[in-house]
Amino acid sequence: MKLAAFDAGRGRELGVVTDDLKLVSITRAAPDLVSGMIDLIARWDAVRGDIATIAGRPADAAVADVRLQAPVGRPGKIMAIGLNYADHIAESGMETPASQTWFAKAVTATHGPNDPIQIPKVSSALDYEAELVAIIGKGGRHIAKADAPDAIFGYCVGNDVSVRDWQLRTTQWVLGKSFDTHAPFGPWIVTSDELGDPHSLGIRCFVNGEARQTSNTRHLVFNCWDQIEHLSHAMTLEPGDVIYTGTPGGVGMSMTPRRTLGDGDVVRVEIDRLGAIEAVCRPEA
Ligand code: ZN
Repeated sequence: MKLAAFDAGRGRELGVVTDDLKLVSITRAAPDLVSGMIDLIARWDAVRGDIATIAGRPADAAVADVRLQAPVGRPGKIMAIGLNYADHIAESGMETPASQTWFAKAVTATHGPNDPIQIPKVSSALDYEAELVAIIGKGGRHIAKADAPDAIFGYCVGNDVSVRDWQLRTTQWVLGKSFDTHAPFGPWIVTSDELGDPHSLGIRCFVNGEARQTSNTRHLVFNCWDQIEHLSHAMTLEPGDVIYTGTPGGVGMSMTPRRTLGDGDVVRVEIDRLGAIEAVCRPEA
């Protein structure tokens, strides 16, 4: 199933995306069924039958006619792994890390998949990172690798937007990764049972139509299952938590000459079978 959050002029609604890219509103069909996407994920076993029934109703809107929102509007946490594709490690001039390198992105960076990305007042070193995003399902602590596939509710396309000077002038990357609007993901959640194997997906990033990143999730150094096991040794993973799983080579920072995103640049990230997110960059008001 594909589950979206959208605004069609009457506030945030949750919906099922059909094969012909229409939306059936869960919110209109059953206003009291779930209180939001995190609640839907937490109670998935109880509500999935009702939602499957709703999915068979006539569509309420076309995807093209609504504004898609971040599928999880305010996740409990956003965690992201760095240096997790061999070609990206090489272009960064870093060593392949012996252990997983994690940082947090502030939840206030959560952003709609196609909404404008802010160029900060305090920096012009804006960059993109195409990433597979995993959305945590039931969650838990000390999740074994073998149980990790069931711990992921579904997947999205993400852009780990980065402010390179703020990221790299200190040893902690968190601030440079946490600017408002810099955690867009979507266009919707493709549930794990619909997607199947997340480790065989083509992943691409384009800036103004020019291909910048072209890879496949099979090249992840630490795959999704490794990541869930490792992260959950430290922290309780909760329904709707957002995990950015790393970016392949081709980021602007590593190009010669170095490239940044400027006013009017359009960044598109696409992943096989998950869809695409696309946004224009605009200066912070
Ligand atoms: Zn990243």
